[in-house]
Amino acid sequence: APTRTFFIGGNFKSNLNKDSLKELVPVIAKHQTAADVVIAPPALYLLEAQSIVEANNSKVKVAAQNISGKSLGAYTGEIAAEHVLDAGIEWTLLGHSERRSIYCESDEVVAAKTVDALQKGLSVILCCGETEHQRFVENRTKEVVTGQLGAVHKALEAANLVDKWSKIVIAYEPVWAIGTGKTASTQQAQDTHLEIRNWLTTISQSVADATRILYGGSVSAANSDELAKQADIDGFLVGGASLSAQKFLPIIDSAK
Ligand code: PEP
Repeated sequence: APTRTFFIGGNFKSNLNKDSLKELVPVIAKHQTAADVVIAPPALYLLEAQSIVEANNSKVKVAAQNISGKSLGAYTGEIAAEHVLDAGIEWTLLGHSERRSIYCESDEVVAAKTVDALQKGLSVILCCGETEHQRFVENRTKEVVTGQLGAVHKALEAANLVDKWSKIVIAYEPVWAIGTGKTASTQQAQDTHLEIRNWLTTISQSVADATRILYGGSVSAANSDELAKQADIDGFLVGGASLSAQKFLPIIDSAK
């Protein structure tokens, strides 16, 4: 069976402040686990978070929540991959549902940002997921999710970067489960993860075997153990519960 190191992402979104960040990040940084742990603080605190993990000689990595997808230049308000790399940071989230819905990032924009990140040397947590309407009314989950991932694959092919799938971790996050307290059932999650894994075989069997597929959407200590047991769930992307060590560390400990 393929070995995929369990992966836990903590997405702080637009939360915390200097004091709460300085309290939370060292606790996560010092927590012993075999899992890969990556935390994504608000952009203003990326340098602080990076220096805390470094000061603790921690395996924990830091991620930006977004990048501009442009080079350095006249893009007021934006942070480029170059800035993230200059901060010593190796990861970025891309395509989070809040970026897609609130900030109108299309599949093509997310694909272009993914190409930019990979070209410049960042690793990417690539988010995808269907809305409640798309799953429960239109019955189109597989089409929506593979469409989102397919747009990225098409852009990688055009940029000759198909080998960079090794730098991508997929986060499957049903929109109706994000921040709602409604988790997908283990079966719903596993079924969609398997559909994603099957779609990855159309790239190659080795990409399908090696790519971590995380589940995200109201993950908590109460549901993480059962989700973690599923064959195609290789970790979690955690929003709300990553803001408190008391809630986040038990999720990290569900690593299989
Ligand atoms: C997320 O935003 O990636 C997420 C999964 O949020 P929550 O855990 O709060 O549902």
